[in-house]
Amino acid sequence: MSISKQVFGKTDHRESVDLYTLTNHQGMTAKITNYGGTIVSLETPDRDGRLGDVVLGFDNLGDYIEKSPYFGCLVGRFANRIANGKFTLGSVDYTLAQNDGPNSLHGGLQGFDKRIWLAESFEAPNGPGLILRYQSLNAEEGYPGNLNIQVTYMLTNDNELRVAYAASTDQTTVVNLTNHSYFNLAVAGDVLNHELTIHASNYTPVDESLIPTGKLQAVKNTPFDFTCATTIGSRIHAEDEQLKIGGGFDHNYVLDRADDEMVHAAEVYEPVSGRLLSVYTTQPGVQFYSGNFLDGSITGKKNRVYHRRSGFCLETQHYPDSPNQSDFPSTVLEPGEKYSQQTIFAFTTR
Ligand code: BGC
Repeated sequence: MSISKQVFGKTDHRESVDLYTLTNHQGMTAKITNYGGTIVSLETPDRDGRLGDVVLGFDNLGDYIEKSPYFGCLVGRFANRIANGKFTLGSVDYTLAQNDGPNSLHGGLQGFDKRIWLAESFEAPNGPGLILRYQSLNAEEGYPGNLNIQVTYMLTNDNELRVAYAASTDQTTVVNLTNHSYFNLAVAGDVLNHELTIHASNYTPVDESLIPTGKLQAVKNTPFDFTCATTIGSRIHAEDEQLKIGGGFDHNYVLDRADDEMVHAAEVYEPVSGRLLSVYTTQPGVQFYSGNFLDGSITGKKNRVYHRRSGFCLETQHYPDSPNQSDFPSTVLEPGEKYSQQTIFAFTTR
């Protein structure tokens, strides 16, 4: 196993940003930058052992700063949307930037994805890792409380990328952290032939601005049913109001779970390469986003043009707009409490 560090570039404010390469015993590599805690590349073997990069991204820091649609980054302080950029805690109303129509998306104008994190690499017996730390100050992007965040990435020797999130605050606040990797297990082309399973019997339907209506909808007998392996493309064009609103899948799935323990959330199989991605998490939901807003206007790594559906995201998270939805699991973090979530992306072949 090994860890190497190189300069990735400089921001407009002349701050230096690094790129860490973690390599495990099997030769799988994860390249992660401390700009946004972003996974820049993930090389995993296909069924013949040939390595291929299974995430979308850019070759250089400048492109991440200028035009990234949240490729591979850490998202916070609140992943996904908060309706009208407003929420109330106790008797205090908070206002966030409206950076997505009327709503606040992915932490606002300068979310955690656009921050430089303090990085420290380590080697553990079962693989190399990277600890990232960031302090989000009180009132940053409108959120209350100084929030200390630590995210640990670990690449295990059995080809798992483990992501552990921890946070604490000095004032009551809301927190919802995730990673926003866009995967393509075939490395190129679109993801419509990827076979997806999501262990969720319900999802949260949305209104026209992609805010949950507050209802849970059973997936049974709808195009949203991925409880058995189904290709992403097979029903994406079905006549369905929710698919129309999302321009495809862009919905939070309510994971079937009995408690807060780690559960098997989803599985994606790509039949040509044989790659199989299994996602495990302690989170209550997962946003399945089928890359609907990619439109061919972005050119990424190795001059690859990212067309519609060239990647999919499985963002493990609390449900969108939870601060305004009292029936959803709470995203409130109080002083003295410890925010803790884990997600595992496990790569095998079949
Ligand atoms: C959201 C999409 C959004 C995408 C990129 C996803 O988490 O659900 O609506 O377009 O992130 O910002």
